[in-house]
Amino acid sequence: RQEVYRELRKKPSVTKDGVHVDLLMNAGLAVDLPQLTEAGAAGIGLFRTELQFMVASTFPRAEAQERLYRDVLDAARGKPVTFRTIDIGGDKVLPYFKDVVQEENPALGWRAIRLTLDRPGLLRTQIRALLKACGGRELKLMLPMVTELGEIAQAREILDREVRHLSRFAHHLPTSLKLGAMLEVPSLLFQLDELMKAVDFVSVGSNDLFQFVMAVDRGNTQLSDRFDTLSTPFLRALKQIADAGVRNNTPVTLCGELAGKPISAMALIGLGYRSISMSPASIGPVKAMLTELPLAELQAFFADNLMAPSQKLPMRALLQAFADDR
Ligand code: PEP
Ligand code: MG
Repeated sequence: RQEVYRELRKKPSVTKDGVHVDLLMNAGLAVDLPQLTEAGAAGIGLFRTELQFMVASTFPRAEAQERLYRDVLDAARGKPVTFRTIDIGGDKVLPYFKDVVQEENPALGWRAIRLTLDRPGLLRTQIRALLKACGGRELKLMLPMVTELGEIAQAREILDREVRHLSRFAHHLPTSLKLGAMLEVPSLLFQLDELMKAVDFVSVGSNDLFQFVMAVDRGNTQLSDRFDTLSTPFLRALKQIADAGVRNNTPVTLCGELAGKPISAMALIGLGYRSISMSPASIGPVKAMLTELPLAELQAFFADNLMAPSQKLPMRALLQAFADDR
């Protein structure tokens, strides 16, 4: 198998009928970087910057942040990298961050963009480190757990202010700056066109989106087999996101665990996703699926089945049968 995946690395990342799909990897620490070439990823679709904070015993200093981001970009050698601002709070606790209070529902609590907008010093330091590290290169910055569009506007204000500050001091600025939002909270599903217009790109965090759409704790093993990530309502939501991206000319990626399983990656591509980001070990198996996938047939399958009012078999079984037949 490993041999097969190694061979596949040299092949273009296209479906059997020639449609290109970007297979990106998720990362979070410097040790992940060699995987970029080993796995043959097209870039880093999600860099989880909070990991540096989680393995530290105190807040990483601005210089240490900048150094890591620079190392990531150097290792990527021109391949695109999407940095996510720190996604802490919830289940990602920093023992040294004393402001965090005990919460009844941490997944719904003071976390991610909510926390960093309330402690803008944290966000400002991180954004400044990113802007400096990306001098002369592209910066793609992504906000986690966005619930309202106002949060994007607030973050953009901080970003703009940092850009002005650095240019005043004649710093080498990024050649291009893209601001994106993660789509993880269902409120955004009901303002998709506005969302797509408010950002340069969207990345679906399917782990959290599934948790909130189904009202099921992503870490609760008692419930882990109960609801299916390939169930019709969830796939309909994912399709609406992909469609809204096309309609508004806004690039859409998906970077949750869903992207890393060949059967669900197949579904995503059938629903219109042309960029997915996964753990490095999944790139080989997903690419093996991709190169064998007759996409036009899968699109016809979804046209027949996704909106059909009743089905004898669950969607996962139908998709499995589609895959087995081919
Ligand atoms: C997600 O929620 O799908 C995601 C990619 O972010 P994380 O798993 O880090 O919450
Ligand atoms: Mg998430």
